[in-house]
Amino acid sequence: MRVVSRISAARKAIEALPRPLVLVPTMGALHAGHAALLRKARSLAGDTGSVAVSIFVNPTQFAPGEDFGKYPRAVREDLTTCRSEGVDLVFTPTEDELYAKDHSTFVVEGLLSSGLCGEFRPGHFRGVCTVVAQLFLILRPDAAIFGSKDYQQLAVIRRMVRDLHFGIRILGHPTVREKDGLAMSSRNRYLSPEERSHAPAIYRALQELRGMVRSGENRISTLERRLRSRLSRIPSGTIDYAKVVDAETLQPVRIMHRPTVALVALRLPSARLIDNLVLRPRTA
Ligand code: AMP
Repeated sequence: MRVVSRISAARKAIEALPRPLVLVPTMGALHAGHAALLRKARSLAGDTGSVAVSIFVNPTQFAPGEDFGKYPRAVREDLTTCRSEGVDLVFTPTEDELYAKDHSTFVVEGLLSSGLCGEFRPGHFRGVCTVVAQLFLILRPDAAIFGSKDYQQLAVIRRMVRDLHFGIRILGHPTVREKDGLAMSSRNRYLSPEERSHAPAIYRALQELRGMVRSGENRISTLERRLRSRLSRIPSGTIDYAKVVDAETLQPVRIMHRPTVALVALRLPSARLIDNLVLRPRTA
């Protein structure tokens, strides 16, 4: 496994790697959810292809006052995980390497990015699109894998790749959860024991919605009301959003005729948690 920090070294390294090359972009502090993405990357690349991972805590996707400074960094452990998952190349650029001091070019997706996390984290998706575009242009993968845990991010990246003709296959991976249902996240380590004990209620609320839909409920307002009511019982939690929107366009709908997705962002004192669940109408 090669580990490179310089763009020039990364470019040289990928020239020597057999195709297909599958990339998994991450911010590090890798957990079992990331490891599942790495395994999917390996199975897609096959024994003869290559897997690359990027580890970079991207400053431009954090809004002022967010956790950029304290975001967990654990490169040594991350490299051990990558090695044991058969990764061929790890790209660990520095901030200076990706962003010139007078950097002034950004990639903006203008529709799917605007609501949900886009509303509560100004500039977040602009930062995500910009860094992912940089990684795609530097590493030129044939395919890249993203988790559905960040459902809106996956939709935004798919749109960017389609609109800008990157010619890179984008694959999603289902959310990997703890035994009690909490979606795995590098930020879960911020949670106090008490917050951690309340956090699985988010997934339970999402599952309750799925149950309602299976029993025939198709009014979005009823589903959203139940979701908010369940989430509002979580002690010290503040709901950023709790919405049910079209699963593809992320736009509001009133009645569920097509698949929708229930998305939640809940702020606890120590961490902001996001989760989602796709809901399919009974007849679809
Ligand atoms: P991050 O390091 O949090 O930026 O995540 C890197 C990639 O891993 C993103 O595509 C995430 O959606 C994905 N990911 C993070 N947590 C999970 C999880 N629990 N299940 C599946 N994918 C995940």
